[in-house]
Amino acid sequence: MTEFAKNFIDGRWEEALTGETFENRSPADTGQLVGVVVKSGKREVDAAAAAARKAFQAWRLFPAPKRGEILFRAGELLLKRKKELGELETREMGKILQEGLGDVQEAIDMAYYMAAEGRRLSGETIPSELRDKDCKSVRVPLGVCALITPWNFPIAIPAWKIMPALISGNTVVFKPSSYTSVAASKLVQALEEAGVPKGVLNLVHGRGEDIGEHLATHPEIDGVSFTGSTAVGEKLAARCVELGKKVSCEMGGKNAIIVMDDADLALAVEGAVWGGFGTTGQRCTAASRVVVHQDVYDTFLEMFTNAARELKLGNGLLEKTDVGPVINRAQMEKVLNYIDVGKEEGSKLLTGGKVCREGDCARGYFIEPTIFSDVEARMRIAQEEVFGPVVSVLKARDLEDAITIANSTKYGLVSAIYTRDVNKSAIAERELDTGIVYINSSTIGAEIQLPFGGTRKSGLGHREAGGRGGALDMFTKWKVIYRDYSGKLQKAQIDR
Ligand code: NAD
Repeated sequence: MTEFAKNFIDGRWEEALTGETFENRSPADTGQLVGVVVKSGKREVDAAAAAARKAFQAWRLFPAPKRGEILFRAGELLLKRKKELGELETREMGKILQEGLGDVQEAIDMAYYMAAEGRRLSGETIPSELRDKDCKSVRVPLGVCALITPWNFPIAIPAWKIMPALISGNTVVFKPSSYTSVAASKLVQALEEAGVPKGVLNLVHGRGEDIGEHLATHPEIDGVSFTGSTAVGEKLAARCVELGKKVSCEMGGKNAIIVMDDADLALAVEGAVWGGFGTTGQRCTAASRVVVHQDVYDTFLEMFTNAARELKLGNGLLEKTDVGPVINRAQMEKVLNYIDVGKEEGSKLLTGGKVCREGDCARGYFIEPTIFSDVEARMRIAQEEVFGPVVSVLKARDLEDAITIANSTKYGLVSAIYTRDVNKSAIAERELDTGIVYINSSTIGAEIQLPFGGTRKSGLGHREAGGRGGALDMFTKWKVIYRDYSGKLQKAQIDR
């Protein structure tokens, strides 16, 4: 079934003023048209930003617990539609159905979690040094927020931004990736049906290069939350800083799993397969490097290669499929180019490395799960984000060497270590310079009630998701209030 994805501006579903559209076809079968999407220009962004500005005053004064009730209802609607939405994700961007369903579940979890924040959103009350005076800090919304999201988590990542932005009292202009426009529309539809007032949440479809920067730098926008590539994120962040806008970017990764000589190797192999080939390697948290202790290197490689060869490529709607396609032709070419780079740099191609056009894969963008061994830390395939089913395996002398290798890229999103030695795990936990560290599990597995994000070129600004230091810090600003009820001038922090 082909859907028509429209903009949602000031409470109305609208076509673009340009009258233009573009098509989204299934990456598993390009013969299948999933969506026809309106192609917006700058005027639609202007209209959405103006609507969000107009709606802000009423929304910021709408009691936060009541805002929470709307989000809760949205969560209920998403739960009811989970299967339909999961299948849509699989059709639109290719991830296998279990992962599509997981993606929708993350949005449901975030809706419930942020709904409850409506009854917290707490600041602090702190004693004053003076009598008859009280002091408190409160969170206040930023205003109008631009939310720009990638295609690899079509409903979860938008929900990770929209739910905290709305619960905090902001209004929103949301620009999803053009590759997952239909899924994004369904999320907005659920929020509309749940009762989000008109103008509070606006959706503009279009290509990043046409409207992304115009949105982020728009005079009506107070805060920008971006998830996507480091190249785009850094450029946008620089512009936002110049313009005095609050900005937060979640960006690329080059995540490593360390496998020590005392590790449960079967478990580590499972973790490496899931981390490397889950979502076809198209996760910011993908384990695109595995750093293995020299004493178990050969055994690990044999087990890992055998496991990768067992994976079934195909359409993610079929139960037998383990690995779906990459998102589009450009991404397929980029990944194939990195496979050539890996060979040219002198690493050893152990398995995969080719496009698959057999059977179910005939009309899609499928690349075989690929493993390189004998990779050195300085090589491009060990340094650059491939964003496809390609894993580089590197050899380490000991724990210190493994940690040095793991930390040797410009990214710092996630890392993992497999070891049964509690001391080694403690040292790794301390020394790995990433926003998230996993012990005895893969690089995938973040939960929404904890902050999510990376260090160095993986993250800039605030973390996403819940918990102390999470998304509320992006979507609110602190205001401190001192109230003096002594009836006289009292001077604080002055020698009396
Ligand atoms: P991308 O940077 O190409 O696009 C991300 C978003 O920015 C899209 O909505 C796109 O339309 C928009 N955009 C593109 N060019 C723009 C421009 N010049 N100005 C403004 N906006 C623009 O990234 P992608 O290909 O959609 O996603 C893959 C990347 O996202 C990978 O690097 C991945 O690691 C990263 N990612 C990071 C996280 C995280 O939480 N750290 C999560 C998921 C994906």
